[in-house]
Amino acid sequence: MIRTRFAPSPTGYMHIGNLRTALYEYLIAKANNGKFILRIEDTDQERLVEDATEVIYNTLKMAGIQHDEGPDVGGEYGPYIQSQRKSGYLDYAKELVEKGEAYYCFCDKERLDGLKNDGGIAKYDRHCLGLSKEEIEEKLKNNTPYVIRQKIKEGSTTFVDEVYGDITVENEEMEDQILIKSDGLPTYNFANVIDDHLMNITHVVRGSEYLSSTPKYNLLYDAFGWDIPTYIHLPPVMKNQTEKLSKRNGDASFQDLIDKGYLPEAIINYIALLGWSPSTNEEIFTLDELIKCFDIKGLSKSPAIFDIVKLTWLNGEYIKKMDFDKFYTLAKPVLEKAITKPYNLEKIATHIKTRIGTINDITDMVDFIENLPDYSTELYIHKKMKTDEKNSLEVLKKALVMFENLEKFDNDSIYNAMTELVKEMEVKNGVVLWPIRTALSGKPSSPCGASEMAEIFGKEETIARIKKGIEKLSEV
Ligand code: GLU
Repeated sequence: MIRTRFAPSPTGYMHIGNLRTALYEYLIAKANNGKFILRIEDTDQERLVEDATEVIYNTLKMAGIQHDEGPDVGGEYGPYIQSQRKSGYLDYAKELVEKGEAYYCFCDKERLDGLKNDGGIAKYDRHCLGLSKEEIEEKLKNNTPYVIRQKIKEGSTTFVDEVYGDITVENEEMEDQILIKSDGLPTYNFANVIDDHLMNITHVVRGSEYLSSTPKYNLLYDAFGWDIPTYIHLPPVMKNQTEKLSKRNGDASFQDLIDKGYLPEAIINYIALLGWSPSTNEEIFTLDELIKCFDIKGLSKSPAIFDIVKLTWLNGEYIKKMDFDKFYTLAKPVLEKAITKPYNLEKIATHIKTRIGTINDITDMVDFIENLPDYSTELYIHKKMKTDEKNSLEVLKKALVMFENLEKFDNDSIYNAMTELVKEMEVKNGVVLWPIRTALSGKPSSPCGASEMAEIFGKEETIARIKKGIEKLSEV
């Protein structure tokens, strides 16, 4: 059975790149009736991690990526929090010492600092590999602080990564890395190998920054005589050609995007496409559809660029397709904040549904409804509509009479009356519609046409806005 794991460190922040890793792990598992496991890697974490772990649970939940095993849901391979698993690691390290695959190192900080080159980098010189059995026993007996180091053997290490292909590294380039620190706790590099093995993980999916450490992990698997998992390393998600997405610019986390009005399902759809291409030209996928068509062959090794414009487009497509009631539930609080006058918010929502990228776009789109903005009469000049300030004034004066005489004030009646005016004036539609639309909105664009807007405002406000337009144009 395929078992994948998402192994985040609890930083209190779910980066888009991490969420993408989780998504691909989930899809690989689910496409194969496998299991998706959540493991919290908190051994290097000094801060309190409880809240930070909540962020991980909440994000996965909101994104619809549910783990089959994890700290909150349990499972037969627990504990799923690395700091709670600490007891076993030292024994595993000692097993490697017995096998001659690892060794005790008693070098103190001073000695190690002395090994540093000009760049401040020290490659351990294997000083303690030369200690005799007696010397080691003596030091252990005297409680001399120690670490346990992996003994990297000679030769080269080759492995296959599903995305990056065959990779060979000369072992002499690798350091005898620390497996157990002087406080008795494992390093991340050791713990992840032990945990992945004990949790029967078959596919390891993670960021390409771990690619260079993978040969060391493989030497550990070999030393224990364990099976090496399938590796899928993912390129970074970039802000542009040169910069990585960063926490600082406030758009790198799932929560930032939710706060900006993006829908979880659109974010997930978009993230799936960040570095993965489906075999068809289709771009809109539900999570279930992704499970059916996701294939690791479609993963790219070039860095993916996070394109907010594309995400916004995709989000808009989700809003268009969304059932109206669901949309209204999301839109209503935003509309209520922007509009306190007793207009029909539901009707306004029907007009904006097809025109927004995110829920937050609503605020700007309806900002002219509560109060008419102070606008320039230049808005009346529209080449294509064949309008200018002069003929607009004439139209508004006639429209005022028309609105005053109109008894039924619904969209159809208003529209018919405007059509009558077009006929009477023997002009093109735009010559009448554009000035009325402009007078009602005071903006170069609006979410609906003149008759729909007039219906929303009702007779009194419509007339007041037309009068304001006449007043402004009369001053030109
Ligand atoms: N805890 C590591 C991280 O958050 C996970 C690396 C891995 O998946 O092996 O980057």
